[in-house]
Amino acid sequence: MSCGKLVVIAGPMFAGKSAHLIAESKKHASTLNLAPAFDTRSGAFLHSREGSRLPARSVSEWPRDARDYAHAIIDEVHFLAPPFYAGDAVADILAARAAGLHLTVGGLDTDYLRKPFDITRRLMAAADRVCRLEARCHVCDAPARWTAKKRETGQVLETGDGELYEARCDAHWTTPEGA
Ligand SMILES: [Zn+2]
Repeated sequence: MSCGKLVVIAGPMFAGKSAHLIAESKKHASTLNLAPAFDTRSGAFLHSREGSRLPARSVSEWPRDARDYAHAIIDEVHFLAPPFYAGDAVADILAARAAGLHLTVGGLDTDYLRKPFDITRRLMAAADRVCRLEARCHVCDAPARWTAKKRETGQVLETGDGELYEARCDAHWTTPEGA
């Protein structure tokens, strides 16, 4: 049995990661689309900010029927962490690749304090290919590789959109107000 390929699409919020995943999914006839059960913003869909969407399954453990598919797409992979995910998502993903599954996964490489997400960091280290996306800085429109949080809430894993997060360049990234 041949090994699959793991492609990681990493970057800050507002970089277009979901749009890339949706486009990749549509290239293949049989794709398993997964999203973390933790992220309840989009229900059972992958959503891009440009308005495209794709049905997805919310998971809190590795799906047993993944072996029935040739390709899998996982969005917001940094959310596949305990206590929201049962087990080690990285080990599950690498075992699935070894069994022949092709995976394209997207996630934040760093949190709003610029600390690496362990899951994304480990997947990037193990990936066959890493695609780093940049957003546009909400202040100056320059290329932005950081996610900034507008106000401190005390939660590292917290869903939100433009009301809570912004993309920022090196010059304009700051810690949240109230931190
Ligand atoms: Zn800027």
